[in-house]
Amino acid sequence: MSATLPKPRGRHFFANPGPTNMPDSVLRAMDRNSIDFNDPEFVEVYDAAVAGVRRVLRTTQHLFMYNASGHGAWEASLTNLLSPGDRIIVLESGYFSDEWANMARAHGLDVQSIAADWRRGVDIGAVRDALAADKAHAVKAVCAVHNETATGMKLPLEEIRVAIDDTGHPALFLVDTISSLGSLDFRMDEWKIDCVVGGSQKGLMLPTGMSFTGVSDKGMRAHADARLKRFYFDWTLMQQRPQKSFIGTLPVNIFYGLRESIRLIEEEGLENVFARHRRLAEATRRAVKVWAGNNGPQLFCANPSRYSDSVTAVLMPEGYEAEAIRRCTRERFNVSLGGGLGKLNGKIFRIGHLGDLNEPMLLGALTAVEMAMRIERVPHANGGVEAAMAYLSET
Ligand code: PLP
Repeated sequence: MSATLPKPRGRHFFANPGPTNMPDSVLRAMDRNSIDFNDPEFVEVYDAAVAGVRRVLRTTQHLFMYNASGHGAWEASLTNLLSPGDRIIVLESGYFSDEWANMARAHGLDVQSIAADWRRGVDIGAVRDALAADKAHAVKAVCAVHNETATGMKLPLEEIRVAIDDTGHPALFLVDTISSLGSLDFRMDEWKIDCVVGGSQKGLMLPTGMSFTGVSDKGMRAHADARLKRFYFDWTLMQQRPQKSFIGTLPVNIFYGLRESIRLIEEEGLENVFARHRRLAEATRRAVKVWAGNNGPQLFCANPSRYSDSVTAVLMPEGYEAEAIRRCTRERFNVSLGGGLGKLNGKIFRIGHLGDLNEPMLLGALTAVEMAMRIERVPHANGGVEAAMAYLSET
């Protein structure tokens, strides 16, 4: 395709799996001048936002927030709960579980990875076996990415919880919900999760830059003995500050946006939010399954019980570049898709269907993909968009 095409006009269709689209009312809520973060008007906004995040996490326990993207909350989860040399188990799911494990190694933790095929995901029996074999209880934490954004696969947190409980192992359970919170069912307290890592820029429909950790009482007890170095992320220091959950200058505009995004989520109802994500995800998968005909692109996730409802990764046929599809949708149709990360770079593209999204927005993105496959002469079967439309109009 020519590099000299003018930038396409019309609305930018954003189908990345994060950041995501921001609703107009969230943008309007943030569109205001600064306010002193000790001003009672702001304190009310802050308290409402903090209480709202707790409700979305489904926890009544502790919450700490950071001026940092999700990586910051990852770092907070490790440094507040663990000590140098501690062993942790990380369930391999893809690029993001690898990165969390790499961060843990950089902090001097002893990482035991439960290896997995990125298209199928980890065998929960292997987690159970690893914990059962650890008679001395050397393993201090089990870390899982609820929804692996890089591969479009979700892990069954309840099953992992049962596997931990079956062995009677006292390890903490740490979960990354960065691309599942506000999109997929998640219950911190019910599933006895000790530390939840979340971020602003996906299901919460906010700009990137704020992240948080929900922490259980058990997690706070472990925190009291944890010796990894930290300062900005230190939960004990946070509890001594006026806001209890934050250190430093508060990003006041994001908090105004957060209060509004929680209002939107609760107005729709969490269960309805999850159902909408399930429908849009299923429509996307139906489209990809049709395209897979004639040796076309196929679903990267090969384990139907683990399909993600917030992002679908599409594996290109051998010899065809995923970046050609992404470039074409962006340059010709003003549609942005996610790319492949790490070893999947160039092999997959990702369709984000989370956050502030409805049927026509999704169909617009799917249509652009189907046209791009024609333009780029990628083998596929036609009719994917038709299959998505049929599903969305019948359900
Ligand atoms: N974990 C998951 C599952 C993610 O999807 C991402 C980013 O997309 C991260 C962690 C890292 O978060 P951030 O990019 O906000 O630092």
